[in-house]
Amino acid sequence: MNIHAYPIYAPLKNPLAAKIANVKPQTLAALDLWMKRIHSVVEVIKRADAYSMVDAEQTFIQYTIDSVTRQLQRIYNNDKVVIMNTFQAYLKRTKRNVGLEVLACKMRGKPYGSKLVRGAYGTEENKIALEQQVESPVFPNKMLVDKSYNDIVQFVIKNVPPHSHFTVASHNETTLELALAAVEDRKKELEVQKSQISFAQLRGLSDNLTYHLAQTGHYTFKYMPYGPIENLAPYLFRRAEEASYIWLEGQKKLVHVRHELFDVRKFHYKFFGALGGIVGLIALI
Ligand SMILES: Cc1cc2nc3c(=O)[nH]c(=O)nc-3n(C[C@H](O)[C@H](O)[C@H](O)COP(=O)(O)OP(=O)(O)OC[C@H]3O[C@@H](n4cnc5c(N)ncnc54)[C@H](O)[C@@H]3O)c2cc1C
Repeated sequence: MNIHAYPIYAPLKNPLAAKIANVKPQTLAALDLWMKRIHSVVEVIKRADAYSMVDAEQTFIQYTIDSVTRQLQRIYNNDKVVIMNTFQAYLKRTKRNVGLEVLACKMRGKPYGSKLVRGAYGTEENKIALEQQVESPVFPNKMLVDKSYNDIVQFVIKNVPPHSHFTVASHNETTLELALAAVEDRKKELEVQKSQISFAQLRGLSDNLTYHLAQTGHYTFKYMPYGPIENLAPYLFRRAEEASYIWLEGQKKLVHVRHELFDVRKFHYKFFGALGGIVGLIALI
């Protein structure tokens, strides 16, 4: 049974459950308000004929994100995808979950909408699992993560129901080649059923791949970080770490991330004073 198909907060409205879980009426009211705000944002997205991708985070919060996202998908994803969830291929459970979700969409006659990433919190997931003395939810090595990612890409491209939207979010050239081959194999059917397979890279990373994909007629976009420096810094540090790994393997993508960090530092130095500059400077070191 997929318990996350149910609203997370509805059971808490049961007085007995609320008592057991020690949920205060103010908390339920805040949750209601939060859901109302999310609905109003999604309404705007829908009216603009756009779509939204919900990012994936660490597993301790991901169940809640999945639950809310699925509730929104049930309401808004009808004749087209408005809300896309994100799946992390480094999780042992993902391949099975994606299979079930594609099947569920097919059975309900609804489009499937998701973005697939490898996953950015592997070190943290392993650390938490070790501390709690439980099995890590993440595969133990890159080879298994790559297999999971590539299997899911091939499965989804082969099986998506009509009007779906699936995004291959990766900088890995082998994965992208494999995805392109799978799209080529089903090109006609995907066109007829009006399903969209898109590609995405992060701003500051693999611009060469993004340009190539776009120039060869594939729906491709860049993820751009936007927000206050205190919120952006952890994100940019993670990217810098990834970019340095890629760079060590012989590519020069770190340079782009450095430019990105430098731009953010400059912007914040100019508008928010020295603090933003200091954070940006540490990031550059
Ligand atoms: C458009 C876009 C959106 C993204 N959104 C999210 C998001 O919502 N949530 C999120 O978590 N991440 C997100 N990411 C980041 C993503 O999860 C990866 O961290 C990043 O893209 C690097 O993976 P890759 O496929 O590009 O490259 P690769 O270099 O092929 O893969 C690197 C990844 O492989 C895995 N890996 C590497 N070494 C090991 C090891 N020893 N054991 C196990 N696994 C290993 C890790 O997941 C690592 O990030 C996003 C990336 C893109 C491009």
